[in-house]
Amino acid sequence: MASRDIDIGDTRVVLLSDGIFETGRDALIHTGGDAARAAAQAAWGDRPLRMDVNVALLRGPRGIELVDAGTGPSWGPSLGLARTALAAQGVAPEAVDRVYLTHLHGDHALGLLDGEAAYFPRAEVMVPAADLAFFSDPAERARVAAPRQGAFDVARRVATAYGTRLVALPFGPVTAGLDLLPLPGHTPGQGGYLVTPGRPGAAALLLLADALHLADLQAGDPEVGLIFDLDPARAAQTRRAILDRVTAEGWVMGGAHLPGFARVAPDGRGFRLSPA
Ligand SMILES: [Zn+2]
Repeated sequence: MASRDIDIGDTRVVLLSDGIFETGRDALIHTGGDAARAAAQAAWGDRPLRMDVNVALLRGPRGIELVDAGTGPSWGPSLGLARTALAAQGVAPEAVDRVYLTHLHGDHALGLLDGEAAYFPRAEVMVPAADLAFFSDPAERARVAAPRQGAFDVARRVATAYGTRLVALPFGPVTAGLDLLPLPGHTPGQGGYLVTPGRPGAAALLLLADALHLADLQAGDPEVGLIFDLDPARAAQTRRAILDRVTAEGWVMGGAHLPGFARVAPDGRGFRLSPA
């Protein structure tokens, strides 16, 4: 069982489970084209794709923060469980100071909403500026296939609910102990949050959003993507580059869809993950 809590400097990071998302194996794609896609689906076998949906809880000198917010009640009873998990950690919605979104997809952002109101009544919501700009632009919406347009509605609803508490974050340093790294492809403005310990020699933690959905499969072959990647070629490029960097820097990584914290090592044409 992979570890789901870790101390990074003075910050304790806990992965809260929002539930399991399941979809058919035809959601698998491959940058190598139709034959490579068919081979990847055949290799996966006749079983659904199942992936964790996580919310990260950060408690430290900056207060109580979340990275992503899960689905809330919007995706049915098998998801939206992070709210109960948060309560089990003794954290009420009004105690949350900040929610950092990695991108504006529903499984990351709909948990911010209570109907059309803010579920977290005091929290600031920080969104990568590039993602907020993209999903707020009607011209971009018109260029995106209809089944992939949901995030445009999510952006509008979150903006209405949080008003001036919605903050567009540029890539780069956010505050002491936190950096926002660009991870474009899955969405154009997706970002990962690097939690740094503030002392030399201690490992940092990268929360790499949806640069990885299916940990072992996509680490082994970073060219495998999911139909939810808006720009699959760029997503694959980003996946490879960030796994290279996590390896080189010796970071621990966690993701919105990974079962727990992991370390990464090169392995053949891809990478191998091991529990951190
Ligand atoms: Zn996701």
